Amino acid sequence: MDRLIAARYIRESGTGHSGGGRPPSVLEIDPAARLVLVADLGAEHATVALCDMWAEPIAEEHAEIDIGSGPERVLGWVCEVFHRLLDKAGRLPSEVCGVGIAVPGSVDHDSGRVLRSFLMPGWDDYPIADVLRGSFDVPVLVENDATAMALGEWWGSWRATRSLMLVKVSTAIGAGIVLDGRIYRGVENAAGSIGHVRIREDDERVCTCGSRGCVAALAGGRAIARDLSRPGREVTGSRGVVRLVQAGDPDAIAAVQEAGRTLGIVLATAVSLLNPGVLVLAGDMAETREHHLTGVREMIYRRSLPYTTRDLEIVNSSLGRRAGISGNALAVIEHVLAPGQVDRHLGSAAS
Ligand SMILES: [Zn+2]
Repeated sequence: MDRLIAARYIRESGTGHSGGGRPPSVLEIDPAARLVLVADLGAEHATVALCDMWAEPIAEEHAEIDIGSGPERVLGWVCEVFHRLLDKAGRLPSEVCGVGIAVPGSVDHDSGRVLRSFLMPGWDDYPIADVLRGSFDVPVLVENDATAMALGEWWGSWRATRSLMLVKVSTAIGAGIVLDGRIYRGVENAAGSIGHVRIREDDERVCTCGSRGCVAALAGGRAIARDLSRPGREVTGSRGVVRLVQAGDPDAIAAVQEAGRTLGIVLATAVSLLNPGVLVLAGDMAETREHHLTGVREMIYRRSLPYTTRDLEIVNSSLGRRAGISGNALAVIEHVLAPGQVDRHLGSAAS
């Protein structure tokens, strides 16, 4: 403990209740001694943050981006913002102990590479972690965006429940799963890829994956925008849909509810299989007030057995953009504070 305190991993935060004898010291993670840099990259927008060791943002920046402009350009911008946030907070790059990057695609968590993403042309097999370690010589963790959000929501609001599923609906659709408090990735890092379940094989709408009738091609943000667009009214991306719904446009509201019902068909299966305590809807569609949620709820209850949904809470994300930042930072902090990492840092062999 003395060594951990001297290295500022933990600190004393007062004294606890004594059961007889000297009152015990209460120890806690020292939030201020180290920093974590995280970037939550979506297809169309990104949030970048500097966090403390309690995963609380110290400084953050949000921007519209086009992830399709390629990894060099996007990650170059991320590094620029990382340095800007450090400057703004008056902190040094040497205080950073880890970096977390979330992207809208399947990633190999161990190697920090993108495996596949239909939203990210040019990113396939790109070594995000290796490239960023050129700027910050610390552990770099790469995570799927919905997975990072699932961990953030679970930690922030749902730790009393053992399992949580989060479905992010923005440009496309993806899910993250937390089972017994741990991220579940699947054997091919592909758990949660529900956007490309084909629910209408005879549908003419082509998905980003090249197939027809995927749930993402029918009910993702880009698909809703396309369906709402007509001559004289171009609806741009999932943000465009959100703006219309927030302005009370009846066509947009109906389309978002219908998209919720379409998504609900696939989610009824997922809920029946996993029996989670909570299903969190996140991403742009969670900003359409209750409209999207209502459609999802309706179809899940209609298509599932009552006992699989009896204790299920279906809610919109309470953290919003913070979910990805928080989950990313937590994953990095957990990695940095793992016994092996701490031992290495303290220069002693694990015994
Ligand atoms: Zn598809």
